[in-house]
Amino acid sequence: MAIVQALSPAPDGRRRLGLASPATREAVGEITVSTPDEVTAAIARARAAQPAWAARPVKERAAVVARALDVLLARKDEICATVRGETGKPQAEALAVEIVPSCDFINHWSGRAARDLADERVGLHGYMKPLKKLYLQYQPLGVVGVITPWNGPFVLSLNPVVQALLAGNAVVLKPSEVAPHSGGWAAKVLWEAGVPSDVLQLVHGDGETGAALVDGDVDKISFTGSVGTGKKIAAACAGRLVPCSLELGGKDAMIVCADADLERAANGAVFLSMFNSGQVCVGTERIYVVDSVADEFIALVKEKAAAVTYGADGEVGPLFWERQLDIVSRHVADARAKGATIVVGGSPDTEKGLFFQPTVVTDVTHDMDLMSEETFGPVAAIMRVADEHEAVRLANDSRYGLSGSVFSRDPKKVMRIARQLKTGSVVHNDASVIYGAAEAPFGGRKDSGLGQVNGRDALRGYTHPLPILIDRWGQEKENIWYPAGDKTVKTLESTITFVFGNRLVRRFMR
Ligand code: NAD
Repeated sequence: MAIVQALSPAPDGRRRLGLASPATREAVGEITVSTPDEVTAAIARARAAQPAWAARPVKERAAVVARALDVLLARKDEICATVRGETGKPQAEALAVEIVPSCDFINHWSGRAARDLADERVGLHGYMKPLKKLYLQYQPLGVVGVITPWNGPFVLSLNPVVQALLAGNAVVLKPSEVAPHSGGWAAKVLWEAGVPSDVLQLVHGDGETGAALVDGDVDKISFTGSVGTGKKIAAACAGRLVPCSLELGGKDAMIVCADADLERAANGAVFLSMFNSGQVCVGTERIYVVDSVADEFIALVKEKAAAVTYGADGEVGPLFWERQLDIVSRHVADARAKGATIVVGGSPDTEKGLFFQPTVVTDVTHDMDLMSEETFGPVAAIMRVADEHEAVRLANDSRYGLSGSVFSRDPKKVMRIARQLKTGSVVHNDASVIYGAAEAPFGGRKDSGLGQVNGRDALRGYTHPLPILIDRWGQEKENIWYPAGDKTVKTLESTITFVFGNRLVRRFMR
């Protein structure tokens, strides 16, 4: 059975999709696809329910969302069972990738909401300062559509939904059709915590359902997924001037400097390329190692990768659906055909499920898909470089720019290299963990996305920051209001000369 396959339609004519485990190919459930009309109706219900949710004080909304942490802890085993059934992830990965960051995000954002969303007095500068006072109100946008992928189906649904709800929005969530019930748990824990069912709606389906949500009466789209879909969504949102955040694919580079702790770098290279079966947007996809330490590094990576187990009970689980297995197989075959050396693994193993052997490839070049396109498989692709300058040049030679890592004993050097990298974020002696650092603005450059999520302004990203300028003096009129005569011009001329014509005054007016 295919991992996702069309079943005979429901009695009312709606499409149904059957789901199978990628680890065993056994059936694990099905979904009835929400029709475009159902999506429209869900948005309308969300819109009707949103004002009452927004009217509740932030602290009250935060208390409701915070309760979802208790629900999540109580339901942890069921959530893991669903995630593992739909994706085949090993238990350690279900816990590390889905549960731990989800607990942390609920706890962190609900704890920060009252402070981040409170009205703010902002000091004005220059000649405005004596005349006006500025306040900011963070108003919810209305209804936010959240569309999510299959690789982190629970956490990548939960995080944006929690943020949008805390900011006072209603949400319509459409998880991936590859792992729909895993994504659905994000709604379930929040409903059980007390978020009204009309304020958070769940629709199921594939691209057609996602497109209906994007084309619906929403005020923002939060999208996480592939570059191709992201570009379609960007175009649709642009046509209606609806804001969107696009968290897209990556081809993250790891740079191994000559002074790196090679033991740590090799452990990192293997794990960061292979965890979640390599299906991590900020996973390591390309490794550049400086020539002087390359032999030792490659030998260590080879030894460590050869010891990694895979399979239904292994350390590396399956690819989550056939499309992904095809991409990984094609990239490795292309590299092999173009002269790369397969040092470890290199083959699919589909006897029981959609497995691909933990793989190490060397002698790679940038004309191989393995080094230019997102592979999303348990593959460490290693390229020797003359020095760190060449590593930086090659790391930047990509249409993607999501994240990247530098392995070195010298944090100052890492700061210097990071300044030259055209990517979304840089991590020292580690990688993917950046998404879990809630304070770090997260988002890609180039084809890897548009806008940033998380970070200091995360919750505010789901609001319209409304500036309100308050008059200080209540005079009969401002100097430039009508009647505008010679006196107005003189006043303006002398203001310009006084404020901007004098270097000392300029400094106080900044
Ligand atoms: P995808 O683009 O195929 O699907 C993502 C979601 O969009 C799914 O829910 C899908 O049903 C929906 N969709 C498909 N076509 C649509 C359309 N025309 N309009 C609206 N919605 C539509 O991506 P995927 O294969 O599920 O996810 C894997 C990709 O996601 C990888 O490229 C990965 O790098 C990326 N990703 C990025 C991040 C990040 O934070 N940058 C995180 C995780 C995954």
